[in-house]
Formats: sequence, structure tokens, C-alpha cells
Amino acid sequence: MAHPKRRLPGNADGDFYVDGSCIDCDTCRWLAPETFFRTAGQSAVRNQPQSPESRHRALLAVTACPTASIGTLSPAPEMPAIRAEFPVPVADEVYYCGYHSPKSYGAASYFIRRPEGNVLIDSPRQSETLAARLLALGGVRWLFLTHGDDVADHAFWRDRFACDRIIHEGDVTRSTRTAERILKGADDVELAPDLRIIPVPGHTKGSCALLYRNRFLFTGDHLAFSERRGHLYAFRDACWHSWPELTESMEKLRGHPFEWVLPGHGRRFHSDAETMRGQLEACIRWMRGPG
Ligand code: SF4
Repeated sequence: MAHPKRRLPGNADGDFYVDGSCIDCDTCRWLAPETFFRTAGQSAVRNQPQSPESRHRALLAVTACPTASIGTLSPAPEMPAIRAEFPVPVADEVYYCGYHSPKSYGAASYFIRRPEGNVLIDSPRQSETLAARLLALGGVRWLFLTHGDDVADHAFWRDRFACDRIIHEGDVTRSTRTAERILKGADDVELAPDLRIIPVPGHTKGSCALLYRNRFLFTGDHLAFSERRGHLYAFRDACWHSWPELTESMEKLRGHPFEWVLPGHGRRFHSDAETMRGQLEACIRWMRGPG
């Protein structure tokens, strides 16, 4: 739990604060950008929430934070209701789960509600509150693991929902070798008519993306949006397998239409399909260049 004695000096005076346990995962900054900012390699409170909406977003960040690094000096009576708010809608039947795990360095996870079976994309941290909410939404049929870094509490979710865990063999470790479905090869896999698995090796050997309804692309750590660059990009400094393969995998995405990029790390992006194609081309040009 955050402790006021470890309050970082960069925090604005007032109720909300970030303490020294922050791992700089970026979650609070995109969830509540009017409240949190980056300074000295960690997050801190730039402005105390000034409106009910800002306070609500800041409290969502308290729940989402993987390391419980955000605190309030006075108790927040809304917290039980805020904790039960996740997963929160993104668009249509797609939800963002919150409850980031330190085991995945605070990666985001998502949930798709569909009549043919719900999908959890990457593992949130273990939470009975979140599990109850997912159960109320129909449970989990598949736990799709985009890559080996973001498996976190996969065994908990498997036990809770008897869901099939899916991961590519290139990223299987001792922890995930009991996964119910282990993918092989470089070809796309049609999990269902509306769900396509696209192997995108590069960030890791077994990285895969999941495309839902030709609209939502869940990218793990393959692809995200950079606000600084103003276009989609990949993590050149956090490429654990092969940058040339990652670039080829990015080119492979040209064959798929999508309107949403929903990453594990980095910022999400939404546009019409044509703008997205331009964004993807900008990313590929950047990847082919000096960086
Ligand atoms: S969510 Fe928590 S760990 Fe992540 S940047 Fe914010 S305070 Fe730090």
C-alpha cells in the first residue's frame, strides 16, 4: 500500500500522492492524465483532482496501479464501488480490465464479451472482485496470452473459469507449459469466425496479436501509439527477440483491417480503417529508418 512517508517530492500538495514504489508503468498517466504526470523517472500528482470526473479517474488509477503506489491522505469512501467498476467499457463489447499486475510490469489486459464465448486478453492481477464481475458478464472461455511477458496470474484465471489458455510455443516457459492450447508456426489461426490470431514474432519469439471483428487489434507489446512521435510505433529499446522480424511482422499487418490498437504497454489508438492504414505505414517507415 502507498505510504505518505514515502510520498515522492514531485507530487503537488494535497490528498492524492504517488509514493516511491512506483515502477513507471504509465497506467495512471493515461487513465487520469489531468492528475498524473511523469517526473524524475516515476509518476507523481501534477494537479489534485478538481472535479468529480477527475477524482473518479484518479481512483480508477488507484485500483489499476500494479504496485499500489497511489494513495490518498483521507479515506476514499467510493473505493469499494470503484474496485467493482472494472472491467470498464472501451467500445462495443470490448472492455479494459484494470487490475494491472507487477508480474507483467503493469501491462493492460482486456475482455471481449461475445455470445459464443468470452475472451480475456492477457492476465490481470489476481482479484476476486474482478473475477466476480467477469463471472457476471458470462465468465471466460479463452485466455489469450499475447506473449510470455504478460501471463502474470494466468493460473488463477484458468482455475477460476476453466478457460483454455492460448499461447504460442515460441513463448512457452515452465509457467505456461500446461496451457491448454499451444500454437505453432507463423500462419494465422482462426479461433472463431470473428477472432483471428496473427503471429507477430519480434518483440518476443512467440508474440501474437488477436484481431476481433476486423476492428479491434490486441497487440500485446508488438504495437502501440506514441504521443511524442504522433504515430504508431514498436518498442525498439525493449525488443527481446529480433527487430528485423518485428518489422516483417508489422508489414504483415498490412493485410488486416482494424480501427483500434489495444496494447499491453504503451498508448491505445483509435481511428477509421483508412487513417489506421496510414498510421501503420508511418510506423513501418520509421522502423525501416534509423529510429
Ligand atoms: S500506475 Fe502505479 S506504478 Fe504505474 S506509473 Fe502510475 S503510480 Fe507508477
